[in-house]
Amino acid sequence: MFDVIVSNGTLIDGTGSPSYEADVGISGDKVTAIGDLSEATSKRTINATGLVVAPGLIDSHVHSDGVLLIDPQHANSLRQGVTTEILGQDGLSYAPLSQENYQIYRKYLVGILGEPPEELDMSSVRSFRSHYHKKTSINTAYLVAHGAIRLETLGFQDVPMTGQSLKKACDLIKQGMEEGAVGFATGLSYHPQAWSDTNELVALCEATNELDGVYVTHLRDVNTDRAFGGGGIPEALEIGRRSGVKVHFSHTRTSEENAGKVGEVLELIDKSKDQVDTTLELYPYPTGSTFCTSLLPSYAHIGGPDEILKKLNDPSERKKLGKYMEENTVKSADQAILSSAPNSKHLEGMSMIKIAEEMGLPVGEALCQLLLEEDLKLGFWLTPPADVSAWRQVSKDALTFLSRPDYMVGSDSIPVGGHPHPRAYGTFPRFLGRLRRQFGVLSLEKMIQRMTQNPAERFGLKGRGILKKGNYADIVIFDQHKIIDTATYDDPHQFPVGIPYVLVNGMIAVDQERCTGILAGYAIP
Ligand SMILES: [Zn+2]
Repeated sequence: MFDVIVSNGTLIDGTGSPSYEADVGISGDKVTAIGDLSEATSKRTINATGLVVAPGLIDSHVHSDGVLLIDPQHANSLRQGVTTEILGQDGLSYAPLSQENYQIYRKYLVGILGEPPEELDMSSVRSFRSHYHKKTSINTAYLVAHGAIRLETLGFQDVPMTGQSLKKACDLIKQGMEEGAVGFATGLSYHPQAWSDTNELVALCEATNELDGVYVTHLRDVNTDRAFGGGGIPEALEIGRRSGVKVHFSHTRTSEENAGKVGEVLELIDKSKDQVDTTLELYPYPTGSTFCTSLLPSYAHIGGPDEILKKLNDPSERKKLGKYMEENTVKSADQAILSSAPNSKHLEGMSMIKIAEEMGLPVGEALCQLLLEEDLKLGFWLTPPADVSAWRQVSKDALTFLSRPDYMVGSDSIPVGGHPHPRAYGTFPRFLGRLRRQFGVLSLEKMIQRMTQNPAERFGLKGRGILKKGNYADIVIFDQHKIIDTATYDDPHQFPVGIPYVLVNGMIAVDQERCTGILAGYAIP
């Protein structure tokens, strides 16, 4: 007697092999049989006739670390068929942090991670993981966050990490890995991470590599003078060469400016394949999203969120910061749309230029004023290209990237605020439905492999990513002809269609396109 039988489905097992017809038997949290189970009995049978049965999808890049602690149902992700998310991305997360530092970083990250409870023990990766284990709808894996490591060792200061602080940082990473982290992540356009130099990162990656972790990097575009090769891909590859660490590139894709130039984007990485073990990820949209605090110049972040607010409160300093942002980070403010402003909901969905007009201020200054008034609780995204042919090319490029065996899918989801970037709701069905049917390029089996086996192998997620006997019963069941994203830039809170069932660790988490409320996710691996 099985707990669940998924009958008559078309199995795509996650390895890229051709699909085949079979039943899947589930007992407890595992797949215990695959084959003809027509004579077997079960407590629940899901009739999957005409549907694809595949391993649960693994999102290799999300920013739901805070949101999962407020809304553990996490429907935006679960309804896409995602059963595992990898947290700690861009080094923007909460562990390991002392209680005091947790309060500081929580306040600093509010524009991207939301507002998780204040009273949580984040002092170790072990305690961090305990807040998610069997308390969220999906499985979570964690990358030790560079931001937390720097905060614990040096505070919110622009100082080099050497000697004792470097030793402490390496020890914290190793401890985090021993407590179940799958690697180490940084975001070198964010703070305090951007105050590092290449030597620091090499040392931290040596520690990561000692325990076979992956180095996940959002490339440097801040303080590039302190980086090997001026930051970007050259710095990441140098870190891989010198430390021996496996390097994983976050959100590597084309945009309107370089649409169609896939080869150019990957040239350096491909040339280094024999020296550095590299993988990459992307999402299928032409523009990005982040938190507004990150637009401030590097020096403004010194001292952390309270010091930022103090600077913003000083009229002459505010003018200076506004001018910097105008000249550097919000050049195309008409293309920036506020995604999250919890205390001024009417601003969500408005362009920064429009908001500035209404405030009667230059856009940089308006943004500074708003950051002050809103206690830094602001996020934004950039509008898609007006030139639809460029957008189409970027979409097609996304499939060309994904056709490579070293690619996977990371939604970069920021499910915060009233008007988030649609990638939080649509990334996976957009690939599996809309873009696959529109452009072809790669088979459904190959596409599923990029979303399941690839990330499971890269991040060492044992017993997941392939639908086979003995593995965990993380399963998505969808209609390959109907599956499609419905979230758009102007209407982002929309669930996809064509994904009737999702199982997490053998429990039915989505039943006929409805979340069941079951919180069956494990902190893995
Ligand atoms: Zn990110």
